[in-house]
Amino acid sequence: MKLLRYGPAGEEKPGLLDADGTIRDLSGEVDDVAGSALMPEVLDRLRRIDPTSLPAVEGSPRLGPCVGQVGKFVAIGLNYYDHARETGMEPPKEPIVFSKYTSCIVGPNDDVVLPRGSVKGDWEVELGFVIGKHTKYVSEAEALDHIAGYCVVNDVSEREFQIERSGQWVKGKSCDTFGPTGPWLVTRDEVPDPQNLNLWLDLNGERQQAGSTATMIFPVAHIVSYLSQFMSLQPGDIVCTGTPPGVGLGQKPPRFLKAGDVMRLGIDGLGEQESTVRADA
Ligand code: ZN
Repeated sequence: MKLLRYGPAGEEKPGLLDADGTIRDLSGEVDDVAGSALMPEVLDRLRRIDPTSLPAVEGSPRLGPCVGQVGKFVAIGLNYYDHARETGMEPPKEPIVFSKYTSCIVGPNDDVVLPRGSVKGDWEVELGFVIGKHTKYVSEAEALDHIAGYCVVNDVSEREFQIERSGQWVKGKSCDTFGPTGPWLVTRDEVPDPQNLNLWLDLNGERQQAGSTATMIFPVAHIVSYLSQFMSLQPGDIVCTGTPPGVGLGQKPPRFLKAGDVMRLGIDGLGEQESTVRADA
């Protein structure tokens, strides 16, 4: 299933994309695509519904982030060898874990707003996964069973805030609008191998990033198991898993976002995003 949320920001309703690409209203079935609605028993119930029996949504509403009420937004840094090298850093021996505060999450086609003082805005297409079960001390063998589904995430970053302004990366990763998420949450049954997905990003129509999740240093199952040794994960938590090469920071000379730029990005089977960049007033 492709689950989604549609409508004005903050008032999104739950929906499902049917086989013909029509949005179907799920609000008679679940309150939101969020939290306990992502647990296996609920997803199994939704899977048994004939989508054509659900009300079709008219027009082309805005899509919100594909998961609501996110408790934690965890990110993994430098998880592709080539990306670690392009940033001048050593490939890590253990996953680099950092946080994106959940206030950065926006819909897949919402504007990305460079905050006041930003000079080094950058892009990062990433495979995101969404937790579907309470997760603590799980083995790699059990790990994928704890995932509700997968989605596209743009881990938008401000490199000066992240790297040059001291302290943790979180400042350069959590600005409002720095977490476009969606368009859909594709349930795990439709993604048989999360380590064999192509991902790409174009800036103003020019390809910047092209990679495959096959070249991750730490695969998804390892990340779930690893994180669960340090913290519990709950249904609706999102984890983004690192970006392949081709970010602006890694180019010679480096290239950063400016108002009017358009980022288009996608992952095999998970859909596409398109965000226009603007500067905060
Ligand atoms: Zn990232």
